[in-house]
Order: sequence, then structure tokens, then C-alpha cells
Amino acid sequence: MKLVVIGCGFAGIEVVEGVRKGMKDAEITMIDPRARMQNQSLFPEIISEKVTPDEITGDLSSFARKHDAKFINEAALSVDFKSKVVKTEREEVPYDFLAITVGAVQSYFGIPGAEEHSYSINTLEGALEAKEALERLVSSGKDRIAVVGAGLTGVELVGELVDKYGGKLKITLIEALSKVLPAFSEANPKVCTYIERVLREKRVDIMLNAAVERVEDDKIYFKGGEPLDYDMLFWTAGIRPAPLLETLDVPKERGWIKVDENLRVEGMNDVFAGGDCVFTMIDGRCSGKNAEEAERQGRMIAENIVRSEKGKPLAKYRPKNTLERPRAFISYGGGKAIATSGRFMIKGRIAYMLKKYVDLRFMKRFE
Ligand SMILES: Cc1cc2nc3c(=O)[nH]c(=O)nc-3n(C[C@H](O)[C@H](O)[C@H](O)COP(=O)(O)OP(=O)(O)OC[C@H]3O[C@@H](n4cnc5c(N)ncnc54)[C@H](O)[C@@H]3O)c2cc1C
Repeated sequence: MKLVVIGCGFAGIEVVEGVRKGMKDAEITMIDPRARMQNQSLFPEIISEKVTPDEITGDLSSFARKHDAKFINEAALSVDFKSKVVKTEREEVPYDFLAITVGAVQSYFGIPGAEEHSYSINTLEGALEAKEALERLVSSGKDRIAVVGAGLTGVELVGELVDKYGGKLKITLIEALSKVLPAFSEANPKVCTYIERVLREKRVDIMLNAAVERVEDDKIYFKGGEPLDYDMLFWTAGIRPAPLLETLDVPKERGWIKVDENLRVEGMNDVFAGGDCVFTMIDGRCSGKNAEEAERQGRMIAENIVRSEKGKPLAKYRPKNTLERPRAFISYGGGKAIATSGRFMIKGRIAYMLKKYVDLRFMKRFE
């Protein structure tokens, strides 16, 4: 059986491990333009230098060798679902089963100037570039930092900026909706009010209901209200599907691949998809996009590929981190975090230690 895995992040790695465990003779090919898997959960700590790039990335070639897989260090450019072939610039790779786990990229919602004038920490390269620019800024005596997006990444980034640069920076956190961490406001509003209070105590200015309309190289304009002057802008608002998805003729919901309850692409028996790049609605529960959900989906894809090959009935996926009941660790600086799942919440140092354990546990497999 030939398995091709496109995208070797949280979900793809689990697919490879799971299929290898269940089928010693499977021919597995991994495809990814990155030479190292990136653990994005820890990118905010690149800014405060609490982690190094080596600690939070893992070498995909040696991972492939360990699992007797072939690794093609290129981007997949297209898939011919009829002849069952994945194309990269240099190779054409046939498959019996395909797993599409290509994740997501930063979205700028088409806001003029947003991409051009901001830094994104959604990739390691972006986080390192932002860190360098920040160092230059601080040494030049400039201090006005704007962070657009008060979701998990924006909050964690602000916590790390305060930890590293303290009173040297004037930080403004900008959110289009009415709450900090809006994704948690229905399930557990205490998460939002607690984080808002903590950040205000750290002297972070918070602008809510502030929808960005356009960005110039030193000013952010809003739909209503006065513009804001800034020296450096971080963009942490929103994600969109990885560009490969635009080339794939498969059922989609707002650009994300639609999968069935077995995590097969809707209407296909031999193509599975999981992680950030999919839209998963099962029994009225919609998966949220985070590392835990991507890992669980990767494991289920592996199990169902093995079951398909052995002619067994497929297992049904049960979303755990859902839009209705979000689960997350959210660090807010000072070695503290919130751990929340639905209405449950613990906060402080223990939650941060748990977060670090969970974040780094995934990387053990690359040692
Ligand atoms: C800054 C930041 C902080 C975050 N913090 C947290 C957190 O604290 N906790 C948490 O649970 N989640 C967090 N997340 C979300 C989490 O990182 C994602 O949900 C998770 O990475 C999704 O896993 P994935 O496997 O779907 O995608 P990814 O891990 O992004 O992997 C996708 C892979 O596909 C590859 N790829 C893309 N296009 C192609 C192509 N054409 N061909 C081949 N390969 C391709 C990419 O190079 C990448 O290696 C954070 C995300 C960001 C950006």
C-alpha cells in the first residue's frame, strides 16, 4: 500500500507514525517544503527568547528515516485525484491513500496595507524576522508597538513582549470584536475578563470594537474613531487555508476541505484530510483549530487508513476542541497561563507548566 502525506505538521506527523505502527510494509512518502517541522505554539516565546529555534522544530529527514518513509522536501503543487498522483516541481508520486494535512496561513482579510506593513509570527522565519526588527527598534529608542488581533496568539505575544521588554515598550492590543479572546466568550466569559484585567495591569492598552480599515507605514486607520500611530505592527488576526487548497477540486466550506465523520474528504474513499486545513462538522459539533485537535485527527486518519486497507469498518471521529466548547492553554507572561476547557479554568504557574509540558512533549519524537 502506498501512502502519501502532504504536509508534515502536527496532523501529518501523527498520520505517518500511526500508519507505520499499524502496517509495517506500507510505502510511506512525506512531502513538505519545510526541512523541519515547526511547533507554532511556542513562536510567541521566540520573541522573548525563552525558547530556541532548535528546541521547537524537528528534523523531518531523520523522522522519515526513523519511520522507514521517503521524505520529499518540496511543496506539493497539485493532486490528480483520477490517476491518484501528487505532483511537486520535480516528482510525480503515486498513491493508494492520500492524507492532506497542509495547515493554514496568516489571513489579512484583504485589508489594504496590512500584510505589507506588519510582522506575522505564524512561521518561524516570520517570528525570527520580527524579533530582529524589534531589537533594532528598541535600540533606536522607538517604543510604540501595535498588535492586531486579541486571540490566543495576540494575547500570548503581548505577554512575551512585556516579559522581555517591560516598560521599554508602549503596547496596544487591538481587537475588532468586543472582547479579548473572543473565541472563549460564549463558553467561559471569565477567561476573557481575567486576561483583559491582567493585561491592563501590565499597562497594555486594549482597544476593543476596533476594526482595522487600512494600514500605512506608521498609522492604523479604523472603521470609525481616530487613527493610531505605531512604530512596529504585529498582525495576529485570522488564518486562511494553505494555498494548495485553491488548486484542489474537492468539497469545501469557506475554502477549508470538507471531511466526513471518518475524516475522508467528502465523496472520496482514498483521500483523508485533517488538522487546520479542514472543516469538520460531526453530529453538530465543529472542530476548532489547534494542535491538540490536529494531532487527534492525524491519529484517526492513520487508524482509518489501516482499517480501510484491512477491509474493516472505519472509526468515527469525535471533535474534542470544538467551537462551542473550546479547549486551550493560554499563556499571558510571567510564567503564567490559563488552562481552559468549556467552563473549566485553572490559572497561574501550574497551568503554564502544564502548557510547556504539552507543547514540548510533541517534540520528543524528533530526539
Ligand atoms: C503563532 C501561533 C501560536 C499557536 N499557539 C497554539 C497553542 O498555544 N496551542 C495550540 O493548541 N495551538 C496553537 N496554534 C495552532 C496550531 O499551531 C495549529 O492548530 C496546528 O499547527 C495545526 O496543525 P496542522 O498539522 O494542521 O498544520 P501545521 O502544523 O501548520 O502543518 C502544516 C504543514 O503543511 C506544510 N505544507 C503547507 N503547504 C504544503 C504543500 N503545498 N505541500 C506540502 N506541504 C505543505 C507546511 O509546511 C507545514 O509543515 C498556534 C498557531 C500559531 C500560528
